[in-house]
Amino acid sequence: MGIKIAIIGSGPAAFYTAQSLLKEDIEYEIDIIEKLFSPYGLVRYGVSPDHQSTKNVSRVFERTLSNTNVEFFGGIEINNSPSIKDILALYDAVVIATGMAKDRDLNINNTNISGYFGATQFVNWYNGHPEYKNLSPDLSGDTAIIIGNGNVAIDCARLLVSSNQELEGTDITNYAKVALLNSGIKKVYIIGRRGPLDAKFTTVEIREMSELLDCDQVLSKGTLQSMSKAILEDEIAKQYRILASFPEAKQRNSNKTKTVEFKFYLSPINILGTDRITDVEFRDNLNKNNKTITIKANLIISAIGYEGEEIEGVPTDSTGKIINNENIVKDRLYTVGWVSRGPTGVIGTNKQGGAKVAKLITNNIKPRNSPGRNGLKLLLSKLNKRYISKEQWFLINEEEINRASNSSPRLKFTSFTDVFNFLDNI
Ligand code: NAP
Repeated sequence: MGIKIAIIGSGPAAFYTAQSLLKEDIEYEIDIIEKLFSPYGLVRYGVSPDHQSTKNVSRVFERTLSNTNVEFFGGIEINNSPSIKDILALYDAVVIATGMAKDRDLNINNTNISGYFGATQFVNWYNGHPEYKNLSPDLSGDTAIIIGNGNVAIDCARLLVSSNQELEGTDITNYAKVALLNSGIKKVYIIGRRGPLDAKFTTVEIREMSELLDCDQVLSKGTLQSMSKAILEDEIAKQYRILASFPEAKQRNSNKTKTVEFKFYLSPINILGTDRITDVEFRDNLNKNNKTITIKANLIISAIGYEGEEIEGVPTDSTGKIINNENIVKDRLYTVGWVSRGPTGVIGTNKQGGAKVAKLITNNIKPRNSPGRNGLKLLLSKLNKRYISKEQWFLINEEEINRASNSSPRLKFTSFTDVFNFLDNI
C-alpha cells in the first residue's frame, strides 16, 4: 500500500485534504482520526440546524470516507496519549486539521456568572455535541444580549427567536428544541463594537433575519443616520442595504411577539449581577467622554470568534493557531483549516487549503515503510482505547436517520455511552 497519511480532525479541512490526496496519481492510505464518535466537525456541530442545505456537504465527505483507501478512527483524541509524536512515528506524514473550538475570551469581569455563555457552548448545545449537551441554559428571562457582529451572532439570535415551524425539518436536538420553544426570551440585542457598515454578517444570514415568522428586526436609534452617507451614495453592499431596510423602532401594527435589535458602537466592559446576570455595562465608542450605558439582560452570548486548543508538542501562538510556514509545521507535519490560518471563511474556503496540503505532501513525502493503519490499531489496543471504525460510523449514521421523526433528517446520538450501547446491541 502507498504512502500512509494520518489526518487529525474530521471537519471540512480534513475532508477536503483527503479528497485532494485521493485525486493525486500516488496511492495514499488515509486514516482520519477524530476525538468524537462522529465525523464532519463543524458541519455537524457548528452549522446551524436550520441550514440543512449547508450541512448537506457531509454527503460529499461521506463519499470520500467510503473510499476503500480511507479509514476512520472515531473517539480517539490525539494530545498526550496517543501524542502527535506517536502518530508521526506511525505514518509517512501527518496533517493537523483540528479547527478552532474554543471561544475567544471577552476579557471583562464576571464572565463566570450564571447566564453567560460563549457561542461555542451555545451552538454546540443545540447541535447535540456530547461535551455540551448538559449546558441547560436558563432561558426563562425575557432579554438576551449577543456580543459580536458575525454570522455566528446571527445564528444564535435566529435560533433564540425561531418558531416551531421554523425548526421543523431541522436536526436540532429535541432537548434544545423544547427549551428554545418554551423560552421566555422576547428581546434579543445583537451588539457590535464598531458601526453597521463594519458588521461581518453576510447577505443570506441578514436576509434570513428579515424573514422570521414571529420576530421583528429593529435598529437602535441613530443607526440609519450613521449609514446615511453611504446609503445616499448607493455605495453599500447588499447585506448593508438589507440591514438599512430595518426600521429604528418596532412598527405599531406588528403582531410579532419577539424583537431583535441591532445596536452598534458599544463595547461590553462589565457584567453586573451576583448570582446571575442582571445587566451589562457598555462603553459608548462614539462618545469621547467615556460615557457608558447599561442594558438589562438575563442571558449573554459572546460570539466574538474562536481560538484553537493546544495539542501537546505542537507550537501555537496566543490564539491557539498552529505556527506554520505555508501549512508546514515541521518535517512530515502539516496543518490545514482554521487551526492553521484562524477562524475565518466559509466551509468551501477550506477546499483550497486541502488542495495545497495534498500537493505539498505529494511533492515532498516519500514512503518510509511506516506501519500506518495496522500500527495505529496495535497502539490503540495496547493503550486499551476503543475506536469507532468507518463501518461503525455508517451504522450510527443510518440509525440516526432511521429513528428521526418524519420531518427531521436525523436524531443525533449525543453521548459515547449511547453510541457504544447501540453498537454492542446490533
Ligand atoms: P467573525 O465573522 O470574525 O465575527 C466576529 C465578531 O466579533 C466581529 O463583529 C468582531 O468585531 C467581534 N469582536 C471580536 N472581538 C470582540 C470584542 N473583544 N468585543 C466585541 N466584539 C468583538 O466570526 P464568527 O461570527 O465567529 O464567524 C466565524 C467564521 O465562520 C466567519 O468567517 C463566518 O462568516 C463563518 N460562519 C459562516 C456562517 C454561514 O455562512 N452561515 C455561519 C456561521 C459562521 P470586529 O469586526 O470589530 O473585530
